[in-house]
Amino acid sequence: MKGRVFSGARPTGRQHLGNYLGAIQNYVKLQADYDCIYCVVDIHALTTIEETGSIQGNIHEMVLDWLAAGIDPQRSIIFVQSQVPQVLELHALLSMVTPLSWLLRVPTFKEKARLQPQNVNYGLVGYPVLMTADIILYKADTVPVGEDQLPHLELAREIVRRFNSIFGPTFPEPKAYLTEAPLILGTDGQQKMSKSLNNHIELAANEAETRQRVMSMVTDPQRRYRTDPGRPEICNVDHLHRLFAAPAADEAARLCRVAGIGCVEHKAELARLLNAHLEPFRQRRAELAARPGLVKEVLGEGARRVSGVAQETLREVKERMGLL
Ligand code: ADP
Repeated sequence: MKGRVFSGARPTGRQHLGNYLGAIQNYVKLQADYDCIYCVVDIHALTTIEETGSIQGNIHEMVLDWLAAGIDPQRSIIFVQSQVPQVLELHALLSMVTPLSWLLRVPTFKEKARLQPQNVNYGLVGYPVLMTADIILYKADTVPVGEDQLPHLELAREIVRRFNSIFGPTFPEPKAYLTEAPLILGTDGQQKMSKSLNNHIELAANEAETRQRVMSMVTDPQRRYRTDPGRPEICNVDHLHRLFAAPAADEAARLCRVAGIGCVEHKAELARLLNAHLEPFRQRRAELAARPGLVKEVLGEGARRVSGVAQETLREVKERMGLL
């Protein structure tokens, strides 16, 4: 029997290179061998945003990116979390077997509480429980994500183990599935590429915007003049270059070390490469965007296709927990 993949992403709008290289590449690849379910986790988005007017537009943009990147709605299911509400019931039931201490020690919770002290809401603490419910409602065993999600996945496994040991074997322990580049840094060269940090490069940006973002990238801070030798091993331009053209990146790194190439030239080359690589994606995206109703249709069909499994799992869980 085929394994089952589940992954979700918050509706942050247009996707960036970090999402693509860390997760979406695997969403596309895994379609060949697994039953895949990809979810726009809109309820999760509510844990951090106070302005909700952008959610619907963000869902649309994000799904267009997924489709253009190669997620095929004939093979995979794409749906919106809140359209299959059984996940909320499962979340409430799982919360009864999840010790609060497990949740309070999650690094992303501590970080978010620090970033938004005015809004440390109950949902923020329960984020990994809802994420666990997302995954196991469909009994998924494989979860393609970026490295930042590993602590959440570990917690999901702990919750599953606990549930299974109390109520009997019900769920597989979901495993993370990483790409070769599970953590992409942003244009600042320091922090994870993220829309909220505005250090990202959008897949759907036009050529000029992409070039402008790449030219703003921070390189080796010790290299102040064109004649200074650089250290490609700590330079994010080198890292990204390597992911798109490894042999050319080796040569650029060699030149960088002897000041044979400047950071400006190197960035211009990376921008050119990225634009060439993303051109077919952008064309497909424009074609898909021109088809009115497409995204809504895909999402409606996706929700319809998963709701049977969701109902069946919930029934089983309630039975195991003595509620039926
Ligand atoms: P964001 O971090 O921009 O808000 P999400 O948290 O919705 O995006 O992430 C969607 C998917 O993309 C997750 O699997 C996440 O691990 C992955 N991802 C996000 N940013 C990066 C990054 N900089 N490098 C690698 N993977 C990433």
